Amino acid sequence: MINERMRRLLDCLADVHRDGGIDCGAAARHFTSLSEAALNGADIHDILPEAAAHVAHCPDCQEEYEALLAVLRAEQSGETHIQP
Ligand SMILES: [Zn+2]
Repeated sequence: MINERMRRLLDCLADVHRDGGIDCGAAARHFTSLSEAALNGADIHDILPEAAAHVAHCPDCQEEYEALLAVLRAEQSGETHIQP
């Protein structure tokens, strides 16, 4: 009984991972690159398609990524960046 339940749970998790391409830990490692790219006006799906797809599918990561993006955006507008 328990084994069957566990297997179903693992199958479910595997599906999520297969869907998003990578898992939350791997996606989180790309958040900085993704948000910096997004701030520069790049399409994150072009740069890191797997991480971008994961963020699109995972509400937890989406929240985390958007929070980071908001911080970077605030930093960028708060500081006087000298553009070359
Ligand atoms: Zn995630």
